[in-house]
Amino acid sequence: MNDSPPPRPRRLVLLGHPLGHTLSPILHGAAMRASGIDVAYRALDVPQQDLDATLDALVRDGAGGNVTIPHKVAVARRCTRLTHVAERAGAVNTFWCDGETLVGDNTDVGGFDRAARALLRDELPTRIAVLGAGGAAAGVLAALEAWPNARVRVWNRSAERAASLAARFTNAFPGGFDDVLSDAELVVNATSIGLRDDAMPTEMRALPRRAAVIDLVYRRGETPWVRTARLHGHRAMDGLAMLVEQAALAQERWFGGVADRAAMWAALDAHVG
Ligand code: NDP
Repeated sequence: MNDSPPPRPRRLVLLGHPLGHTLSPILHGAAMRASGIDVAYRALDVPQQDLDATLDALVRDGAGGNVTIPHKVAVARRCTRLTHVAERAGAVNTFWCDGETLVGDNTDVGGFDRAARALLRDELPTRIAVLGAGGAAAGVLAALEAWPNARVRVWNRSAERAASLAARFTNAFPGGFDDVLSDAELVVNATSIGLRDDAMPTEMRALPRRAAVIDLVYRRGETPWVRTARLHGHRAMDGLAMLVEQAALAQERWFGGVADRAAMWAALDAHVG
């Protein structure tokens, strides 16, 4: 498809339900202010039954925005055009309108890729374990599809979901928990374990000694899994870097240029610490 810059959105929204507390308006507001972009970004709590009508209204308005749980797959199905990565992930987290055409992208894919490369200093591993098989895991697999010789083992609580996700990628294979971790050089937590309590997706002794650790979950003061893994000598990173990168990439899709990541990090420092 044509990935050229879209017409500038007249307004921006975040579609999700329930939205609760979200950092997206804070990140986008800070970077747009820093770049002199005067476009409103509002969180819009949209129940499933109102999604179609809301998207129709957004197309009429020439709006753009982000999508979060639970609408990423539904919006991908509604888009008239998808970027290659949105197609591979089967989910949309960023959209815009090109005339009457609703265009969907997935900057979680590039966000994960950039954050991971920064942690790994571009020394990309080939044996990777992904825990989880939801929308976030699909984005990770879409990114890992482009890593040279990457072989991805996928574990999920519901094994059939891991099997059907892995089947969409030629370099991904489902497996049992111990099995996928056994020789991993990189372990990615794409489950929501650790989001609401101090539970950890793996014990430390389950991690291979030199494995790097990426937790897509983020919360104030890092997740216990990331903090503990670092104490045990692993290179480790939580989901904040990915969050900032996916937001920056979305802003670059809407407005071109280079989004002000430093302004985003400063806003995060103020809100998350
Ligand atoms: P989904 O609801 O699509 O998937 C949730 C996943 O977590 C499923 O694999 C589910 O397994 C698993 N899971 C939930 N609870 C447990 C549990 N108690 N034990 C084992 N597995 C569990 O969510 P997403 O994929 O969209 O998001 C996953 C996480 O990634 C969230 O915490 C989200 O905040 C984070 N995320 C971070 C981003 C970032 O920018 N840093 C971007 C996107 C997401 P099952 O299939 O068996 O239910």
